Amino acid sequence: MEGTINAGVTKLITLHKSVFGLTNPLPRTVNVRIFGTYEGFKLYHVTHATKLPIWADSFYLPEENEIVASKKSKPAKLLQSIYHEATHAILSKAVGYPPLWFNEGSAEYFSKIMVAQTGIGQEVFREGFGPCKIMLRQNRLPALETVLRYDAGDWPATRQHEVYAVSWSVVQFLTTSQARTEVLRKFVQRLQEYRGNLDSLETLDKLYPGGLKKMEEEWRAWLVSA
Ligand SMILES: [Zn+2]
Repeated sequence: MEGTINAGVTKLITLHKSVFGLTNPLPRTVNVRIFGTYEGFKLYHVTHATKLPIWADSFYLPEENEIVASKKSKPAKLLQSIYHEATHAILSKAVGYPPLWFNEGSAEYFSKIMVAQTGIGQEVFREGFGPCKIMLRQNRLPALETVLRYDAGDWPATRQHEVYAVSWSVVQFLTTSQARTEVLRKFVQRLQEYRGNLDSLETLDKLYPGGLKKMEEEWRAWLVSA
């Protein structure tokens, strides 16, 4: 498992360079703590991660530069959690504290790519598309403006999977063409310049050809046809 994680995180860093165009120094090491039992994990959670939501089943502690997770039924699921948290580690080093939609959307985007070739395969993409499709059908997919302004207050335990899925869909959408990937890279560049402290709405409105209105139309159309 240790060798797999080491090789995986190295590949993850390469992906951050190739997809996001990140160039600044990335973390050389990050510690990974894996609990054999969920009880052990929970005890560590309540004593070490008091500010993180109680429902989290893995987390990243920036001060300690430590990823914490517990064993899952399938090894690929554990790896997916570790890559999700490792993306937080990479982004916190590279851009500071990015907006929530981007932070969680990127963590979901990269962790899905990383495990898509394993036994759990394409299931990971259904985890993303599923909730978005349901929200579309029920006419309650949030406006793009709402997504870009997500904050910790939008983390109710009952709807967390929707926040993850919708945030993922925006990042995934921004990789679906050369022109959109260019927008994503410029956005990441701005994040680096401002250490994560920027208005996503204003920035994407300027960067996306046709502005935010066009981006919203195309994102929804892509989700419908996906
Ligand atoms: Zn996360």
